[in-house]
Amino acid sequence: TGQRVCKECFFRVFETEVHHTIVDNGLFRPGDRIGIGASGGKDSTVLAYVMKTLNERHGYGLELFLLSVDEGISGYRDDSLETVKRNRDQYGLPLKIVSYEQLYGWSMDRIVEAVGRKNNCTFCGVFRRQALDRGALMLDLDHIVTGHNADDVAETILMNMLRGDLPRLGRCTEITTAGDGYIGRSKPLKYAYEKEIVMYAYLKRLDYFSTECTYSPNAYRGYARQFIKDLEAVRPSAIIDIIHSGEAMKVASTVAMPVPAQCERCGYLSSNAVCKACALLEGLERGIPKLGISRTVKDADGLPAHGGDGSSAVELVHFERLRERARAIRQQRLETADSGSCDADACLCADDGASGCR
Ligand code: SF4
Repeated sequence: TGQRVCKECFFRVFETEVHHTIVDNGLFRPGDRIGIGASGGKDSTVLAYVMKTLNERHGYGLELFLLSVDEGISGYRDDSLETVKRNRDQYGLPLKIVSYEQLYGWSMDRIVEAVGRKNNCTFCGVFRRQALDRGALMLDLDHIVTGHNADDVAETILMNMLRGDLPRLGRCTEITTAGDGYIGRSKPLKYAYEKEIVMYAYLKRLDYFSTECTYSPNAYRGYARQFIKDLEAVRPSAIIDIIHSGEAMKVASTVAMPVPAQCERCGYLSSNAVCKACALLEGLERGIPKLGISRTVKDADGLPAHGGDGSSAVELVHFERLRERARAIRQQRLETADSGSCDADACLCADDGASGCR
């Protein structure tokens, strides 16, 4: 608004804005189990703190969890996860960590060794998205929230526009998306500027990690970010204006949209026969990383797949199995609600000894 406010009023204004984003968009229902995607960075740390504050202040009735992904990036993620563990203790929230190594059999360090530094973020982004959904099913969550802020959303709108990616342009302004088709995903900080988030974290003295990823070239987003910062310098409302423009755009009905289906290998939501994660994994396993980077496995080449049957050497746990186990955990939780105990046989959290399960 351009108003000048003191520190205490700034806290209140910032928190109230996030509260309105949550309420006006009906993001949650009382009793929902919400996973906060936690990387230890400023955005997710502020999100965790504000979600906890608002849940208590306004009686949302949510069960909150921290859900982290360990990509296996030495000197970066191992350190940032230490921050998340401290946040777990500071905020009293259960934490679940899922790792690429455990889920896919590949750490990002090994992926970068295999693919170099050009396409590494494609692997990382696709694997992270699915890892969050897998972690959410392990905890039987209803919904995941991520720390994407207004600057991130504006950058994504611009990038999709510049690439002419109309299906993604249509989706990227939505505050809630479908996730794996069962677990919703939303961005409560969608209208919060990065500057506000940094200031909130700094003034609240929150414990967050601020080092850049070792493998973060991602040049295209970097250009979009710089362009938006330049625009913002001459027109302070540029970021929110881009978001409002993106929200107002309607993709023409003549544009071919992906038809949602399920990956025939792992059951994940995919518009191709094989989802992107399985395709990337197959490329890695076969020593042809470029295989998965092109649009579909079939487009990539006609070589017989590893084992000759079209499957990759690493088999991801099928999503239907994860969903079944999540339903079993839910049933058991409902039945043992009063006892507060957990049956380790049915509980996925016990598989890796991670904390965070009831
Ligand atoms: Fe992964 Fe790239 Fe982000 Fe690093 S910068 S965490 S490699 S997506």
